[in-house]
Amino acid sequence: MFVKNNMRWRGKAPDAAALSLYAKERQATSFHCVFGHTGYLINLAARSSDNRTKSLESLVQEIEFAGALGLPFIVMHPGAHLGTGEAEGVKQIVAGLNEVFAITRRSRVRIALENTAGQGSCLGNRFEHLAAIFDGVRNTRRLAVCLDTAHLFAAGYDIRTPKGWNHTMHQLDSLVGLDQVVAFHLNDSKTDLGSQVDRHAHIGQGKIGVEGFRAPVNDPRFERHPACLETPKSDDLHEDILNLKTLRSLIEPRRARVRRDRKFKLKKKAAPLRAA
Ligand code: ZN
Ligand code: MN
Ligand code: MN
Repeated sequence: MFVKNNMRWRGKAPDAAALSLYAKERQATSFHCVFGHTGYLINLAARSSDNRTKSLESLVQEIEFAGALGLPFIVMHPGAHLGTGEAEGVKQIVAGLNEVFAITRRSRVRIALENTAGQGSCLGNRFEHLAAIFDGVRNTRRLAVCLDTAHLFAAGYDIRTPKGWNHTMHQLDSLVGLDQVVAFHLNDSKTDLGSQVDRHAHIGQGKIGVEGFRAPVNDPRFERHPACLETPKSDDLHEDILNLKTLRSLIEPRRARVRRDRKFKLKKKAAPLRAA
């Protein structure tokens, strides 16, 4: 959810009536986790400017609102450097996050950095960017990662096969740590592998394809992780129902999964022997 209008810098704090209505509605859902997404104007990667000041203030306010709503984390795009280069952009993101975490030091709300497609000067398409942000931020307990499958693919991570998925997760694990991943955006991609163009497609109707979602939805490391669809929608949300149906059809019974994982491990171990 957005904690305020996502195209405005400032919002109105939820009042007591809104908070109690939200608590009531929240209890009535079967969701085990509800999380936030920051507004689209926020950019922590750019150099000092009026927009950067507004971004920092806006993020502080969103953390406060998210805290009031009891959200454990809000997903944020790392930002666009707008021409200053990757290193300078990362430096600005780190400085911005340190400032925001200091101002909101009493809050437990985490910022989940979302991997991006790398469109324009957007950072976060390489796991190395995320790792550099984790390295620079003082209070990393306030940081997390949200993985978007369409962005992974457009950024050049080929997740279409179980092997590709595991390889990608291994890279993320060695650079950032899979324990930092707290949520997923499950989207297919209208654009090609490595295109760095961010266009979401319905599950199975994009370049990732339906089989590309089998590994993510069955990965035991993410069994309890929340995920959401950012696929095209009309008012009645019937597309979401179809996309969920597709994703659920891929979920395998636990036994079959364990057996396949074991086979995969045995094969891997046996390989050097065969080579010798
Ligand atoms: Zn996002
Ligand atoms: Mn996303
Ligand atoms: Mn996107």
